[in-house]
Amino acid sequence: MTKCSTGKGITTKYDGGYGTDLETIRKNEYPLLKETIYLDHTGKTPYAKSLIESFSQDMMSNQFENLQSMSLSSQQTTKRREDVRLRALEFFNADPNEFDLIFVPSTTNAIKLVAECLRDLDPRGFQYRYHMDSCSSIVGVRELANMGSQCVRDIDVDAWISELSSKQSGPPKLLAFPAQSNLNGRRLPVHWCKQIRAAASEKGQNIFSLLDAASFVSTAPLDLKEWAPDFTAASFFKIFGFPDLGALIIRKSAAQALKRPKVIDGGPVDQVPVSGLHWDATKKTSVHERLEDGTIRFHSIIALDAAFETHRRLYGSMTNISAHTGLLAKQLYRKLSLFRHFNSTKVCRIYQSGYGDRALQGPIIAFNIKNSRGDWIPKTDVERLAAAQGIRLRSVSVCNPGVLTSSLRWRKEDIRRQYAATLPCDDRHNTLNELPTGVLRISLGAMTSLTDIDILIQFIEDTYVEKAPRFFGRNLR
Ligand SMILES: *Cc1c(COP(=O)(O)O)cnc(C)c1O
Repeated sequence: MTKCSTGKGITTKYDGGYGTDLETIRKNEYPLLKETIYLDHTGKTPYAKSLIESFSQDMMSNQFENLQSMSLSSQQTTKRREDVRLRALEFFNADPNEFDLIFVPSTTNAIKLVAECLRDLDPRGFQYRYHMDSCSSIVGVRELANMGSQCVRDIDVDAWISELSSKQSGPPKLLAFPAQSNLNGRRLPVHWCKQIRAAASEKGQNIFSLLDAASFVSTAPLDLKEWAPDFTAASFFKIFGFPDLGALIIRKSAAQALKRPKVIDGGPVDQVPVSGLHWDATKKTSVHERLEDGTIRFHSIIALDAAFETHRRLYGSMTNISAHTGLLAKQLYRKLSLFRHFNSTKVCRIYQSGYGDRALQGPIIAFNIKNSRGDWIPKTDVERLAAAQGIRLRSVSVCNPGVLTSSLRWRKEDIRRQYAATLPCDDRHNTLNELPTGVLRISLGAMTSLTDIDILIQFIEDTYVEKAPRFFGRNLR
């Protein structure tokens, strides 16, 4: 338990249970945040100074090699890489007997790899379902799904799962969804993965789940043992700020789905044609040996070691971060939702509620602001004014039709008209037919402080809460 002065003479307790006082962590580890109220952790979270120092120390005292050889440094690199792989599995509570982890450049690459392998698994291709809260990395997979794709809601997923065990086996099927929406922080029912697995094994069917954990992992502990997705994609820079590296975690019993076309590119090659002789050099046994090809980012993997270590030293565990960010999000939500103009109309339209329940809601707030007459304030204006005061929040144009209907209350006709008139992601249009085309997004991180929250609240109050009628000239209308 650490204490912090909010700058208003009120002392409020944090619940995070970090080893060190948060103010001290901020001062020593994030000097660049001194002048900034950084509230875009879902985009990217800042890295700690000592992570970079410890990585550079490591680089200066060791020689790392990309290719396997008999040299000592090559063997040391291999050992370090495999140790980090185990450490990463442990971080996500994934038993190495049950799961394997392959390093990829990013979450998007991990998702794409699964899709490409499934496309090649069966000559018919695969059937694809993706949840409407997904972001573009998951939505994009529909282009590879030869047997059709469908954007689904919660009730559609439940209905589909309940029918699975009575169905005859067909082409491979994949359900993909985010563990947490990176737009509004909603946490989705991860028990779907377990249910799909149960139905699939009962029927011996090729039915798989793909969990996009990129947004979730930045502020919460991922528990793969309990949830058991077949494939999980995540990015380490969303947790530690550095290195720019991602992972695909594969349940070993689903690994048979991921057969990769063999390519000779300087990495591990199983089959080497030698002047007419087709020679099967080695049978790769582990999933990562089969799927990681070419020169993987071995320096980034080494950096990950320093990232785990620094993170543990500063914050203890993801559970601590979850408690800390959850508490701040709840307070921020409460304050934003209480703002009223002089005529008692609401200032903020917030697109989620339930900030008290961490199973359902992460520390991201998506909202829009209205003036006292009920007109929407353009989100890009808010972002610009905030930036001028050193406050980094993000205006997000919503490109996903699913989210437009679910969060922003768009009707199908509106979406059709919008697509006809312009691209929905076009930032020049903040509203269309009097509905906002996007949201303002605040996302909290491990080192967000109560002072950050207070300054943001003060900014919105000073700039947008109308205490008395303002003169609206006719020309403003
Ligand atoms: C950030 C994010 C991604 C993309 O991650 P990359 O590593 O940039 O590919 C995908 N899904 C979600 C939910 C995210 O938050």
